Amino acid sequence: MKIRRGDSVVITTGEDAAQAPRRVTQVLDGGRKVVVEGANRVLKHVRRGHPKSPQGGRLNLEMPIDSSNVMLYCGACSRGVRVGYRYSDDGAKERFCRSCSQSLGAVSPAKESRAAKS
Ligand SMILES: [Zn+2]
Repeated sequence: MKIRRGDSVVITTGEDAAQAPRRVTQVLDGGRKVVVEGANRVLKHVRRGHPKSPQGGRLNLEMPIDSSNVMLYCGACSRGVRVGYRYSDDGAKERFCRSCSQSLGAVSPAKESRAAKS
């Protein structure tokens, strides 16, 4: 899947649709689900002793949504866009916007630096 943690995405369905781009805080289930900042919030009621809320009460949580309901945000197009993959000249794999073909950032480093890292 093309969504990664830290990406800016636009939600395409539901009550959070067509709002400003939001950040992906988690990618789950091999990329099929994502947790998006401020989207799909629920109040979860918990008992006392819960690790995140020792006093009990309500937790404001973001629940995962299906990654097919988000689109990667392109700053140049200022909207959610379809994404493709390509290799740049130095061998780095990057994502690009299919509308304006601007790069949306490398997903793996150039061949030389990859060897140096590992
Ligand atoms: Zn674009």
